[in-house]
Amino acid sequence: MTEVFTTTGSSPLIVSFPHVGTDVPDAIAARMTPDALRLDDTDFEQPALYDFVRDLGAATVTARWSRLVIDVNRPPDNRPLYPGQWGAGLVPTETFAGEAVYAGGAPDEAEIADRRERYWRPYHAALAMAVASALDRHGHALLWDAHSISAVVPRLFEGTLPDMNMGTAAGEACDPAISAAAFDVCEAGPFSAVLNGRFKGGYITRSYGQPGQGVHAIQMELAKTTHLGADNRVDEARAALLRPVLRAAIGAAMAAAA
Ligand SMILES: [Zn+2]
Repeated sequence: MTEVFTTTGSSPLIVSFPHVGTDVPDAIAARMTPDALRLDDTDFEQPALYDFVRDLGAATVTARWSRLVIDVNRPPDNRPLYPGQWGAGLVPTETFAGEAVYAGGAPDEAEIADRRERYWRPYHAALAMAVASALDRHGHALLWDAHSISAVVPRLFEGTLPDMNMGTAAGEACDPAISAAAFDVCEAGPFSAVLNGRFKGGYITRSYGQPGQGVHAIQMELAKTTHLGADNRVDEARAALLRPVLRAAIGAAMAAAA
């Protein structure tokens, strides 16, 4: 069974879609609440939004399983990404809205360990292989970790999130000249943009981004209002404004990395 979807690329670019999965194994879904099974916290439609990356020669790594099964953008030991702040964790028991994920008991340590092996490791095996392949062929790699989130999530941040939230682990995951090239494009566009604000990059950005070894990682957390309608499908009128900005930002990062 395919645990993660991948496409190979011809350029140093790898695009990762860790939160787009909407599959839940039957035995797990049977224990989840109706609220959880709406899968509201999914980063809906990111591959469709980024449909242009194949023209840039990107390799892609795309999650099959919902982030409620296990979050591949969290450390395998579940240490917090933002100490002192609420977070959904490796195997979430509450949604961003505070709804219970499980009707009965939450998964115990043995079940979490099992999910880590079945669903978390295959994503990282695929991602690590894509990064190693790009490094091998080009001498450097640019990893773009693609996310989206509701613009208003009181449990996670106050007020309304900026449209484009770029994170590089406060500069540790990406050469500053490369992230600046991408961020300048974002700032010049019609959307609000912030670098290393509330979202600085999750486990993927922080663990794969090794500028000294030629691997540059950038997380892009987009407010869903920039490209989704109320039905969580791409709003093409909005996406038509956003896609050129994303494409130019990634292109600028690739040029700076070359
Ligand atoms: Zn996400």
